[in-house]
Amino acid sequence: MAGEAGDFQVKVRKKARYVNEDLCTGCGACAEKCPTSVTDDYNAGLGERKAIYKYFPQGIPSTFCIDAENCRQLGQGKKCGICAKTCQAEAIDFEQKDQLLDIEVGAIVLASGYEVFDPSVIPEYGYQHIANVVTAMEFERLLSASGPTAGHLDRPSELALRAEIAALEKSLKKLSRQVQRLEEKHGKSTAEFLETWKEEAAAEEPELKRWAELARKVNASQQQLDSLKKIDAASTTAKKLAFIQCVGSRDFRFNRFCSSYCCMHSVKEAMIAYEHDNEVSSSIFCMDLRAVGRGFEEYKLRGGQSANIQYIRGRVAEITEDKDHNPIVWYESTTSRQVQQETFDMVILATACIPAAGTQKLAEMMGLELNEHGFFKTDPLIPLDTSRPGIFVCGCAQGPMDIPESVAQASSAAARAAEIVAAVPRAAAGGAK
Ligand SMILES: Cc1cc2nc3c(=O)[nH]c(=O)nc-3n(C[C@H](O)[C@H](O)[C@H](O)COP(=O)(O)OP(=O)(O)OC[C@H]3O[C@@H](n4cnc5c(N)ncnc54)[C@H](O)[C@@H]3O)c2cc1C
Ligand code: SF4
Ligand code: SF4
Repeated sequence: MAGEAGDFQVKVRKKARYVNEDLCTGCGACAEKCPTSVTDDYNAGLGERKAIYKYFPQGIPSTFCIDAENCRQLGQGKKCGICAKTCQAEAIDFEQKDQLLDIEVGAIVLASGYEVFDPSVIPEYGYQHIANVVTAMEFERLLSASGPTAGHLDRPSELALRAEIAALEKSLKKLSRQVQRLEEKHGKSTAEFLETWKEEAAAEEPELKRWAELARKVNASQQQLDSLKKIDAASTTAKKLAFIQCVGSRDFRFNRFCSSYCCMHSVKEAMIAYEHDNEVSSSIFCMDLRAVGRGFEEYKLRGGQSANIQYIRGRVAEITEDKDHNPIVWYESTTSRQVQQETFDMVILATACIPAAGTQKLAEMMGLELNEHGFFKTDPLIPLDTSRPGIFVCGCAQGPMDIPESVAQASSAAARAAEIVAAVPRAAAGGAK
């Protein structure tokens, strides 16, 4: 990027989609047929997507793209092209390349957002070691009707169990096919074969030895499968939830600031969980619950009165786990002044809002200053102006804030940018927009 307010020259990399966006109708037929499944980042790693995909269903434009690294044809040098054969609009273009676009602009608005704090750096909370301790972002995906569990509160430990069952069923099917081939070849059932089989004959009869081994494996796998299915049949969705506030926020070890939106998103998530299943109860552990905004306090109280939510003033010291994968929350209740423990089905960590990973690089590229927390620096009196004239910032790129505030800032930043562009004579700005 070069230039100054009213006349910036910007180079933008437009990444190859390998799908022609003018032709793609967004029908999704390609993804249905694509044989490659990969972990879905949008669903916080809790589900899978195909190698040809849309990052999220409501994305604009509604165009698919190919994840080249995981695609059999583009990334692994194998023959595939099923998507191209399926696409009736003939939109697949394996030859597409990244494009470098030179753009002239009068002003720039940074809306590069935030990331969530990684709670695994707080070992006492057990994130990634205790299956049913999740982040609020993961919980949002579990609650979502378009998420990996279609909105049912299946616990990650049960999701892992079902994945284990599916893998075992697949390998059992494979073993059973091999056994069936041997049964057909020798014209008898495995039970009949085992009645006459003698282990001493194994050295002379390698094929029969393999048959006996396969039969043993099928038997053991079937028993394991039955016992896993029994555990799965006895499991229910999560009913008792704990929300832990200020994870990585208002904590001098990590971020001193309040992330401002997490108190309200925990209340919202507890409310949605209750609306989904009236047997759900939630305990929100906090230093204080910051319901700052018009109607927010009333919303919080409504949660307590009609959605089985209780607010516990106490900082959580540790989370442990019982043998059934139930997290146990250890905390000091500041109202009873006692250290207490309580067992839950699932724990949700309200993690801090931190600067997006690329913020430092973007700041260096644009010659901008960052504030002490790593967000783009602005003047308190002109909160959308960065340290460089003509470049504005809005939303969580400037600091933690909720959606209404981000949207209001975005409108204001657009207006500030328009002031600059309007003041520049078109010819002088080389036709800048
Ligand atoms: C679990 C959770 C639940 C929440 N629930 C609510 C809620 O119910 N209500 C509410 O008001 N708020 C809620 N929030 C807060 C809300 O997410 C933020 O207020 C909002 O997302 C901020 O919007 P933004 O556009 O500033 O940033 P983002 O939403 O982070 O968007 C920034 C976008 O810029 C893209 N980007 C970044 N760098 C680049 C680059 N170099 N080039 C191109 N693109 C780039 C990113 O990929 C991203 O898509 C919640 C937050 C969390 C963590
Ligand atoms: S070429 Fe094959 S693996 Fe790659 S996106 Fe198309 S269908 Fe999927
Ligand atoms: S909004 Fe609530 S949970 Fe989030 S940092 Fe502030 S006080 Fe803590």
